[in-house]
Amino acid sequence: MGLSVAVTQAQPKYGVGTSTYLLRPDRVFDGETMHADWVVLVKGEKIEAVGRPAAVNAAGAEVIDLKGTTLMPGLIEGHSHLLLHPYNETPWDDQVLREARSLRVARATVHAEKTLLAGFTTVRDLGTEGADYDDVGLKQAINQGIIPGPRMIVATRALIATGSYAPKGFSPDIEVPQGAEEADGHDKLIQAVRRQIGKGADVVKVYADYRWGLMADARPTYTLDELKLIVETAKSSGRSVVAHAGTAEGMRRAILAGCETLEHGDAGTPEIFALMKQHNTALCPTLAAGDAVSQYRGWKKGSEPEPERIRQKRITFRQALDAGVTICFGGDVGVFAHGDNARELEMMVEYGMKPLEVLRSATSVNADVFHLADRGRVRPGLLADLVAVMGDPTQNIAQVRQIRLVMKGGTLYK
Ligand SMILES: [Zn+2]
Repeated sequence: MGLSVAVTQAQPKYGVGTSTYLLRPDRVFDGETMHADWVVLVKGEKIEAVGRPAAVNAAGAEVIDLKGTTLMPGLIEGHSHLLLHPYNETPWDDQVLREARSLRVARATVHAEKTLLAGFTTVRDLGTEGADYDDVGLKQAINQGIIPGPRMIVATRALIATGSYAPKGFSPDIEVPQGAEEADGHDKLIQAVRRQIGKGADVVKVYADYRWGLMADARPTYTLDELKLIVETAKSSGRSVVAHAGTAEGMRRAILAGCETLEHGDAGTPEIFALMKQHNTALCPTLAAGDAVSQYRGWKKGSEPEPERIRQKRITFRQALDAGVTICFGGDVGVFAHGDNARELEMMVEYGMKPLEVLRSATSVNADVFHLADRGRVRPGLLADLVAVMGDPTQNIAQVRQIRLVMKGGTLYK
């Protein structure tokens, strides 16, 4: 029988900050520009003051000397899957079909800690890939201070058109579990969107195209009307919609339907990117995922010429930049190792962005695109989500890997 007892509040291991710190780096990147000779005062979980030392009243603060470092807002990963691990360890099909949910969650707790310690204090986690609503509990465990990890924006199961996102190679007589929730048509789509929101989705993810059936190439899945319905249903609850879209037609429909970010965009065209610019749709290019998958398929990066897929990606990414499309930082991490999120930052530079632009993308731009007004900048009143890296990452982006300090909500993790 049940027993009613007096509940005492357990002291969380990773709570919000209660201390006052004065951080003294060589320079501060505030999410938009660099400032030499700035200090940052943190009080409790928020940033209290920033500026030249003489202008900041630091009486009573514990001083943290960060000589040789650049202090920045905690980085915001725009496209993660904490419930996946690299496909060269276990192929996606086998993760979905053969791994117990308990195993996947146990791994995800480790992924969360690695992500945070690498300086990524927020992730937009875009689908559990067959692990139902397990991202919701993971997020709660982090928010309750039970395990260390980043703040999470979760998509839960994500939406797919029937039969379009499953492990492949099975007899059509067998029902194979899908990598997301199947829903089509008016009533079913409304119900699925509302159910996912009701169970904890902060954002709704839809697969606007995919490789399905026996064809090897990706094709659009949902109709424009279906996508519009998903957006309208999500919007009425204040949630935005993000679309996996790799084909030009899938992208076009997702843009016109009002999806706020497009993931991948590999086969975009100048016309499509112009349409994105016109509709203020952001692109999350996931360069590192394509690069990783090509290497898993046997490409010897560095010693062999780039495969066609990579050459094309460079071209379309350049077209997106030329069209002035807002670029979100998001690597589709999980395809490659959690904690190695910086790989995408390095590749954005390699594919043509300036390091300063890349850092903006990973901080203030992602905060704006994801509607996170409380973070992404070093500014009084915002959350004290901060990282310090050795050297100056606007000169050499690889410095983001030289982590000296990680703070989330005023609590020091490193
Ligand atoms: Zn993904």
